[in-house]
Amino acid sequence: YPRSRTSSAFLQQYTLLERLGKGHFAEVFLCVEKSTGRRYAVKIFTKHPGTEERSKMDGLQQEIAVLMGVSHPNVLCLKDTFNEKNAVYLVLELAPEGELFNHIVLKQKLSEDETRKLFVQLFQGIKYLHDRNIVHRDIKPENILLVDKDVHVKLADFGLAKIIGEESFTTTLCGTPSYVAPEILAEGRHRKYTKAVDVWSLGVVLYICLCGFPPFSDELYSRDFPYTLSQQIKTGKFDYPSPYWDSVGDPALDLIDHMMVVEPGRRFTIDQCLQHPWLTQKPLGVADSTDGLVDGIGGLDMHRRGIVRERTLLSSINSVHLSRKVPLGPNSNQPLKIYAKNPTAQAKAGPAEARPADERAPEE
Ligand code: ATP
Repeated sequence: YPRSRTSSAFLQQYTLLERLGKGHFAEVFLCVEKSTGRRYAVKIFTKHPGTEERSKMDGLQQEIAVLMGVSHPNVLCLKDTFNEKNAVYLVLELAPEGELFNHIVLKQKLSEDETRKLFVQLFQGIKYLHDRNIVHRDIKPENILLVDKDVHVKLADFGLAKIIGEESFTTTLCGTPSYVAPEILAEGRHRKYTKAVDVWSLGVVLYICLCGFPPFSDELYSRDFPYTLSQQIKTGKFDYPSPYWDSVGDPALDLIDHMMVVEPGRRFTIDQCLQHPWLTQKPLGVADSTDGLVDGIGGLDMHRRGIVRERTLLSSINSVHLSRKVPLGPNSNQPLKIYAKNPTAQAKAGPAEARPADERAPEE
């Protein structure tokens, strides 16, 4: 870790207050810097011996390495780190209004104007990261934090973020089931893993903001639609069911269609997202649309309005996080995060038998 301090150095400098949240790897508390009275969030990773702990600490090291080098208005800033005997403390900029997830649940869905305001910031934050070859890899409404009531957002939770080389790819399988890109679920040892995965996840978040429910869900599995969550994602089978999408304009659907393209090479880049008419509010003309980009993409016929289908709004999930609610296949015990290849990380995914065969990593 970048800095090592004597035991309880954190508590000498900060007063610990109430808990703000809990993730898979850490607990987050409100804290106050004694010398200035300024409020921060502190993410505490408790150290226990064991394999799972080692992989937790690997992820933590990654999170610190990424956060140390970044500074952008839409990326949560790391103020300080303390590596103590029993815990590691990350002192982070405070996001007092909490998760975007709760904001959507409270409002049921967001207006196009509010969503646009949000996505200008998210695209700019991700562009900043992508320009530095950093891929977030775990974008979801729980990792987008609100700084104020005026929908000022910051990207958080860089535990899975990775600094990649131009040509680099990894076979690690990670992310959160409902938001992961199809290429991450694709079988084979050499899953290509690029910046495009963030654009896919942002597309899923954009979809959720505008209608209040996710594009892919095991809830849709039926005799007429026999696709598991992962099959829906891998084939890009989603639609814009009526009446939920009736009042959303075509430019928004056009942008989502270009973000959630199964083939990563044909998916919009973050720069293309930033130039899209829905964001610039130019009319969606022939010249503006990316002619040919999505020609011949399988499943695009599915992306149509007007299919009347009952969907469960995020708000009726009742504060249980979507990602924790929806497993990867019917009757699956799939955990929130799944890994392959790295044996220490793989231990975290639980026994292979607990997961349906089509979800298992090829090397298992
Ligand atoms: P995950 O299981 O998603 O990997 P994690 O263990 O890495 O989670 P975080 O997602 O970073 O932990 O934090 C857990 C929760 O704590 C967040 O969802 C959020 O509610 C809260 N939180 C985290 N950072 C902050 C912050 N800077 N300000 C306010 N709340 C925060």
